[in-house]
Amino acid sequence: MTKDYYRTLGVDRSANANDIKKAYKKLAKKYHPDLNKNPQAEERFKEINEAASILADEKKRAQYDRFGTTAEGHGAGGAGFDFSDFGSDFGEIFERFFRGGFDFGQRGQRVARGADLETETEITLPEVASGAEKRVTLTKDEICDTCGGSGAKSPADIVTCPACGGSGMVRHTRRTPLGVFSTTSGCNACYGQGRAVKQKCERCAGRRVRSVTKTLLVRIPAGITDGSRVRLPGEGQPGSQPGFSGDLYLHVRVAPHEVFRRREDDLLCEIPLTFVQAALGDEIEIPTLDGKAKLSIPTGTQSHTVFKMKDKGLPHLGGHGRGSQLVRTVIQVPRHLSREQKEKLREFEKLDAEKPYASLLRKLRLV
Ligand SMILES: [Zn+2]
Ligand SMILES: [Zn+2]
Repeated sequence: MTKDYYRTLGVDRSANANDIKKAYKKLAKKYHPDLNKNPQAEERFKEINEAASILADEKKRAQYDRFGTTAEGHGAGGAGFDFSDFGSDFGEIFERFFRGGFDFGQRGQRVARGADLETETEITLPEVASGAEKRVTLTKDEICDTCGGSGAKSPADIVTCPACGGSGMVRHTRRTPLGVFSTTSGCNACYGQGRAVKQKCERCAGRRVRSVTKTLLVRIPAGITDGSRVRLPGEGQPGSQPGFSGDLYLHVRVAPHEVFRRREDDLLCEIPLTFVQAALGDEIEIPTLDGKAKLSIPTGTQSHTVFKMKDKGLPHLGGHGRGSQLVRTVIQVPRHLSREQKEKLREFEKLDAEKPYASLLRKLRLV
């Protein structure tokens, strides 16, 4: 079973680095073995640390979001972190987890991250079994290649923002009965960039970006479940600086299959059998996702008996091995019989000493 690191930290899948940091800080304080003497606290503390070590790391989080696992994510304890020196001061460990997680660009400017995009694709059950590569076409913005994203006609047209003097921040001062408060916020004139444009780029009309239709080849991991989403880091809308693009979330639908139903990583199917096959036993061929497979039906098989075929199910996502195929027999009673068939069945019936329902009548002393 894949660990749900988001649930471990009690954060939403869309949580940003700050949300994760806050959730981690709260839980780590609650479950730190020095502070919490409950015997389960240490285990919980390890889980929290493991979850934070993955989700706080951009690369590992992206890998986890896409594949439900990370290269080292399944290891015991804290995924490569040494917690032996984990004292009551949490500051340092936060720094290790969260270094680089904040959006500050060159010269300390505020950087706007591009918006995330969403789209969806449908795959078949055999594609779930093998993993798939899907072409996904979407329309999005890309940095204008004429102006390089500056929005200016020429480099000489890029000037210092007059509203903030190039700092990207503006200061507001408020007088209140308690004193003078001053706050700073991002400059709205330049969106915190500290630059203004005199003459606009003609290609993008100063928008800095152009709308493009792009086709991506996306690898869908084997074993993925219906409704999962694959995260493609950096494939969303561009940010205000290179490297700050949003992400693309690809929602994956698994199309219903005409024979198999899925239950976790097991495949369920029903196989109709004749009464004679069930009574005498038979060796039959049944469909699997890998082709045909032989299944032996023992004599006296009842309707709705389930046979388990190991390793014929779907691969476990991001792990080893696969589920089973569960085959349920359904004994079919013939609807139309020829005169000869009817005679044979009556003969057969005469050989049977007692009707099965007679035992019920006997139980209630009705015979
Ligand atoms: Zn342009
Ligand atoms: Zn400005």
